[in-house]
Amino acid sequence: MSFYSKSKDEVLKTLKSSEDGLTSKEAEKRLEKNGENKLAEGKKVSIFMKFLAQFKDVMVIVLMVAATVSLVIALVENKPEDLVDAFIIYAIVLLNAILGTVQEAKAENALESLKKMSQPFAKVIRDGQICKVKTTEIVVGDVVVLEAGDVVPADMYLLESASLKCEEASLTGESKPAEKEAAVKLKEKTPLGDRVNMCFSSSTVVYGRGVGVVTAVANDTEMGKIANMLNETESEKTPLEINLDKLGKVLTIIVLAIAAVLFVVNVCFDPTKVVEAFLTAVAVAVAAIPESLAVVVTVILSLGVTKLARKNVIIRKLHAVETLGCCEIICSDKTGTITQNKMTVMDVYYNGKIIGVEDAKIDSKEAIELVKCMTLCNDSKKQGENFIGDPTETALIAFAESKNYIKEKLDVDYKRVGEIPFDSDRKLMTTANLVEKNVVVYTKGAVDELLKRCDTISINGEVKKITKKHKDDIMEASKSLGSRALRVLGYAISQGPKYKEGAHFTDKELKEDNLTFVGLTGMIDPPRKEVFAAIEKCKKAGMKAIMITGDHRDTACAIAKELKMIKSEKEVIEGAYLDNFTDEELVTEINKFRVFTRVSPEHKVRIVKAFKANGKVVAMTGDGVNDAPSIKNANIGIGMGITGTEVTKEVADMVLTDDNFATIVVAVEEGRKIFGNIKKTIQFLLSSNAAEVLAIFFATFFFIGETFLIPVQILFVNLITDTLPAIALGVEPAEKAVMLQPPRKQEESIIGGRTGINILVGGFIQTIIVIVAYLIAHECWTPLVADPEMAELVAPTAAFISLNFVQLFHMFNSQTQSSIFTKNPFRNKLVWVAFAFGVGVVALLEFVPFLSEAFEMASLSFGQWAVLIGLAFAIIPTFEILKLVYYFIDKNRAKNMIEEEVAEVATETIASKIVVVENEVAEEKTVEEVKKAPAKKPAAKTTTKTTAAKSTTAKKSTTTKKTTSTKTQKTK
Ligand code: ATP
Repeated sequence: MSFYSKSKDEVLKTLKSSEDGLTSKEAEKRLEKNGENKLAEGKKVSIFMKFLAQFKDVMVIVLMVAATVSLVIALVENKPEDLVDAFIIYAIVLLNAILGTVQEAKAENALESLKKMSQPFAKVIRDGQICKVKTTEIVVGDVVVLEAGDVVPADMYLLESASLKCEEASLTGESKPAEKEAAVKLKEKTPLGDRVNMCFSSSTVVYGRGVGVVTAVANDTEMGKIANMLNETESEKTPLEINLDKLGKVLTIIVLAIAAVLFVVNVCFDPTKVVEAFLTAVAVAVAAIPESLAVVVTVILSLGVTKLARKNVIIRKLHAVETLGCCEIICSDKTGTITQNKMTVMDVYYNGKIIGVEDAKIDSKEAIELVKCMTLCNDSKKQGENFIGDPTETALIAFAESKNYIKEKLDVDYKRVGEIPFDSDRKLMTTANLVEKNVVVYTKGAVDELLKRCDTISINGEVKKITKKHKDDIMEASKSLGSRALRVLGYAISQGPKYKEGAHFTDKELKEDNLTFVGLTGMIDPPRKEVFAAIEKCKKAGMKAIMITGDHRDTACAIAKELKMIKSEKEVIEGAYLDNFTDEELVTEINKFRVFTRVSPEHKVRIVKAFKANGKVVAMTGDGVNDAPSIKNANIGIGMGITGTEVTKEVADMVLTDDNFATIVVAVEEGRKIFGNIKKTIQFLLSSNAAEVLAIFFATFFFIGETFLIPVQILFVNLITDTLPAIALGVEPAEKAVMLQPPRKQEESIIGGRTGINILVGGFIQTIIVIVAYLIAHECWTPLVADPEMAELVAPTAAFISLNFVQLFHMFNSQTQSSIFTKNPFRNKLVWVAFAFGVGVVALLEFVPFLSEAFEMASLSFGQWAVLIGLAFAIIPTFEILKLVYYFIDKNRAKNMIEEEVAEVATETIASKIVVVENEVAEEKTVEEVKKAPAKKPAAKTTTKTTAAKSTTAKKSTTTKKTTSTKTQKTK
């Protein structure tokens, strides 16, 4: 139906809705009847198809073919005992495929539940109240409230709009935002791009505000009609998975070459055993090719993702989990992330005086205008006992209410007839209201931005031309409030355009200049308590916490000092100064700064790029509609779950459900742990595989004509050690030192450094142990067995048992980088389950007659078992010695670092003394002088003389701070 050509009433009647929205009951009914608001998904791969896909691996196919060939030969030659081998191989391949399917399904489920967690929300009016619902629960007839930064959740007909602009490029191809206007009746057959009275699903609101009634959901939307094209989204591989794939390919080639050599050598020695030689070669290849590497890593990553979700971090892109461990710079917004975003007005300023809220009497013309500006130029609401909206604005209406100025009533008395929405570039917001048939424009925002646009001031009942002295006084008052970490907003009024009945002025018709300054407010927004410790943790973990804020320098500086983020004001720079640097200059200068104030979204992009150009891995938070580019540019883009716009959440790599800076640090810790566990698993898997290949290779050349490990044994070892132990290592708890080490280098190879050494040493030691076990059995135990057939099996059995045990013991070594005796041995129960399972199955093979026959196991005495287990255990002390060597190397390095640090601290102390002297000199400068100062000396402290009267009032207001705070908080 062409809703765009209908009137508002016709549309609402057709949709059986009203401007107050649906009732929850009705919405529920419609949801049940018509289904969820989501596009039909692409076909899912069934479990069975996943299972079949496990047999696509070339080596598995070769193994099956080889087993079939041996089966046929056994049948032709009528050797039923050889049939067993083939069946065991089939069974092992089948078991492998089942385990592979389970692992893949597990990884997919975790990712699926992630998708559910990161589902977007929208604001709808139900039962006459604004509430947040999942976009999937939106139904036709729902009334949706749109704001800048929202993703339009369904197609809708606009009932209300205020300077609304939507970006609809994915639908219309038009990259310029489309201007929208409510309740215009259009002609039939108006093209999609011209339907100004409609908003379409998946487009984004880039500016303004609107309210619309939903006309279509899910596949009935314009987007749904073209959705089939967009359905197939390939699941992205993380850089680590790509690297592991590459590593896997190299290792495959090496293993295949070794297998080929083994085959040729075995055939040369005994040309009658071609099939056996082929089976052995293929078994070695299957066992040693680390085909499960990438899947195990995906499982560990997805397990980590689920754990992160419990810690308030929703990972949207899997690669973020890896990158977190490399994070060196955390760029964070101040308001709401570092601070609590619980605003309370503490002081007001008008008629040249700062007054505490308790003492503020709203009896002068200026005070009245100030309160009217606070309440009318304000989009927040009171719903029941709760305030809804931006905390900066709710604090203002709470203050006004405490002075008996009720927003609801003022909104009726002074009807809003136009607006210019707030945006963080302008840092201002404006509304036009009818005051006795005249349009009065109310503007509030950042003091510096506001003052630039004021040419008059309302003071002591008179409107005067604003002088430099007035401006200096206002800036001085703002500085005094800011230095107490208060967030300062300025307020101004002006005469608006002539009013015609029904008019609604847009941003084009309203102006934010020739304003009359009215006053200021100072709001407290204390830092989050947990941020203090988080900043400390960052320092110890070799990361830098950077504050990037739209707020004023003084406020940001006071908070940064309180949090010990900065040592001197030299580390603070204003966005405007950044403009004086070229991109190249910024790259060299950026490391000097820790706090960036009055920044615009464009500055954020430059900051991220400059840090990245310094080779740093950068995490960046963002909430506003314009923050998407900086989030995209960062290595880890972080969206805000509570205050963030849907647009930023969509491009973010991860979302914080509690908007908390401390949670980023928790995520980094978890990321480091996950990566550590991946490393441990890879180290274990590769050293085990290396041992299998090396031992067989060695035996082929040195025990010519003797049986070493038979193919089914090789495959079995692989099955036992590749699965449970690998997963068990993946869930290892974090090492304590994980946040005492510097971040990992992104380019660092996963098998480089100590991991590489451990793989090699582990592989060699395991090989030696297995060969020694074989030799002991061969030389000492075989002669004791009378039955020649059984005697022949003794040494291979010893090699098999010791190989299983040495790998299971090595799992404990791989658990930690430090001595295993310094840790609680039962901290990871899964490791013990894997151990018990491995031991149990090996025992079954030995002691259950038909199994021992199938696996060609000789029966060994308990004494012989004890010798083999003891021998295998030797891998633990050997690795303890290696870890001791590492310990001494690290200790030495730490000692050198401490010496360097002591030297650095001494230099810093001298430097900070120089800063104090410089600041004292700078104190004489006026604000204007500092603004004109060259860009490269941006951080000089600025103070002008305060009048005695002002400072007395300021002090007085501080004493009233506490009582007011609790009172206003309660009203919230
Ligand atoms: P952060 O960037 O750390 O979140 P912020 O909230 O100060 O801090 P912005 O939201 O970009 O950043 O706001 C920038 C400035 O605009 C604020 O410091 C304030 O002076 C002003 N401001 C913020 N909210 C409003 C508003 N609702 N109306 C008018 N001005 C506002």
